[in-house]
Amino acid sequence: MNKGIVGFHIDDQGDWVADLECGHAQHVRHNPPWINRPWVLEVEGRKRALGTLLDCLKCNMPRIPSEAQQIACSAMLTQQAISEKDADLQCNDADTWVKVVVHEGELIYQQIADKTIGYVIDSEFAAVIAPGERFVLREKGRVRYQLFYYHNS
Ligand SMILES: [Zn+2]
Repeated sequence: MNKGIVGFHIDDQGDWVADLECGHAQHVRHNPPWINRPWVLEVEGRKRALGTLLDCLKCNMPRIPSEAQQIACSAMLTQQAISEKDADLQCNDADTWVKVVVHEGELIYQQIADKTIGYVIDSEFAAVIAPGERFVLREKGRVRYQLFYYHNS
C-alpha cells in the first residue's frame, strides 16, 4: 500500500528510517552494493524525498476480521519451537487466523504466495497469518513469542 513519507529518523543501529503518513515506519537503508540510496545520507536528499510514496509493508499485513473470536493461544514459545519443526514451510488451517506476537527478539515471517513479501516481527509489530496462507516463520536469534488463534464465527 503506497504511503507518503512525512519524515525521517535514525534507529538505534544508525540506519535511516522513513516515517510514513499511516503512522508506520520503514527502513530506507543505504547499504551498497545491495541497496543504493545515497540520497538518504544527505539532508537535501531526505527533504526531496518528503511526500514521495513507499509501499508500506505494515499496511499490507492482513487484518483479523473484527467479528472473529479468539479460540486458543499457545504457551510461550522460543527459537527452539521453530528449529524442532521438520520443514520450514507451514500452511495455516483454512478457517483459522493466527496472530504471532513477539515478546522478545525478532522473527522473520515470509508469505510463500508472494516471495517478495517478508516481515521482521518484533514486540511492536505482530504478524497476522490469513486462513490457508502458506508461510515460513524463522527465528532471528533468541526470541520469545506466542501464537493466538481466531475463528470466524
Ligand atoms: Zn503503514
